[in-house]
Amino acid sequence: MVWEKEQECMSRVDLEQVQLERLQSTLNRVGTHVPFYRNKFSEMKLDYESFNSLDDLRQLPFTTKQDMRENYPYGLFAVPLRDVVRIHSSSGTTGMATVVGYTRNDIKTWSNLVARILTAAGVGADDVIQIAFGYGLFTGGFGLHYGAEKLGASVIPISAGNTRRQIQIMQDFKTTALVCTPSYALKMADVMMDQGINPSGLSLKYGLFGAEPWSEGMRQEINDRLGITATDNYGLSEVMGPGVAGECLECNGLHVNEDHFLIEILHPESLEPVEPGEIGELVITTLTKEAFPVIRYRTRDLTRLFPDSCPCGRTSHRIERITGRTDDMLIIKGVNVFPTQIESILFEIKGTQPHYNLVVERERNEDQVTVMVEVVESIFFDEMKKQRTMVDLIKKRLAAELGVSVAVKLVEERSLERFNGKGNRVRVIDKREL
Ligand SMILES: [Zn+2]
Repeated sequence: MVWEKEQECMSRVDLEQVQLERLQSTLNRVGTHVPFYRNKFSEMKLDYESFNSLDDLRQLPFTTKQDMRENYPYGLFAVPLRDVVRIHSSSGTTGMATVVGYTRNDIKTWSNLVARILTAAGVGADDVIQIAFGYGLFTGGFGLHYGAEKLGASVIPISAGNTRRQIQIMQDFKTTALVCTPSYALKMADVMMDQGINPSGLSLKYGLFGAEPWSEGMRQEINDRLGITATDNYGLSEVMGPGVAGECLECNGLHVNEDHFLIEILHPESLEPVEPGEIGELVITTLTKEAFPVIRYRTRDLTRLFPDSCPCGRTSHRIERITGRTDDMLIIKGVNVFPTQIESILFEIKGTQPHYNLVVERERNEDQVTVMVEVVESIFFDEMKKQRTMVDLIKKRLAAELGVSVAVKLVEERSLERFNGKGNRVRVIDKREL
């Protein structure tokens, strides 16, 4: 099933024409109504009206989170507040929050794009969708909610938290699709196990997960333990919220809604395009946003483009699940290390749990990383020799993957803190004072 076949399956040539026209009108919009862009364009003597190819995009300035903070709260809005019908804000964990606005049309577009994502992930009007994302300033809850209603599904706006109640409702209301973070889905599986509830007795068929990076191993684990088909979806409040990209049931990369978002994948330092298929920073230009258009927004999220076409029939490009962020990349002894690389190895090792922390310390000017990893009870309470073998195995596999050696410490099942929600899944405890 495709929600908007005409748009989602259009030829690349037609799509590029649509993108160019929409880019042109977005540039007109920000060049006229947003002083931040108007000033930048005039400083750069940018003649955007003469743009005649999508490659001209590369002449445009970038927008960063810092720019949004400096224009807090409404400085980057392209319409007067009277035309804004919704305001969301991203969490201000590392400084001032960023504020985004939506016109009535923006909400319509947003709902539609989320309906596309839901359809691609197997969900339809007959489904009962439990939305366990927080409802509030965070875009996850309301974003998915409006899209699910647009689809005609039955929506349970349960919001985040209270896992036992989530499970009770899931049983009683016969939920068929779950929306939350992937780590929260695993937490639900843990609690079900504690309560002696067998997930195969539930009506659950699909899980749509996002708002934090996860690995293929974690998907397998969720699929196996909850007996569902889990898909990944992507969005960020600075650009719109959920609905930017999502996986189809091929589960092999996220289709980007390219008629609404123009994407680039750039080297995070040189800011030049990477070779097709190589990992780089995702940079997004909105093409249809009215209240809060953004030009070349540096997401800090790392991904790569899948060049091949998808058997599902959608012609949009797919990106790989987000493999990390440019700002949680750790440089250990000069080597770039991403927490997700460690996660994918741990998933391959039997007996380890998907929960881990990384402790980074600097001793005598040398960085030391300790991977604290939860292991199942039988191993944790096993004889020293078996524990030793486990530690050695993990160390060996990690060294081969990362190209740098790390220490490994086994900890008891469920002794590490669980994370839930965007920006909170900090698995890295950096004790270096850099
Ligand atoms: Zn597909």
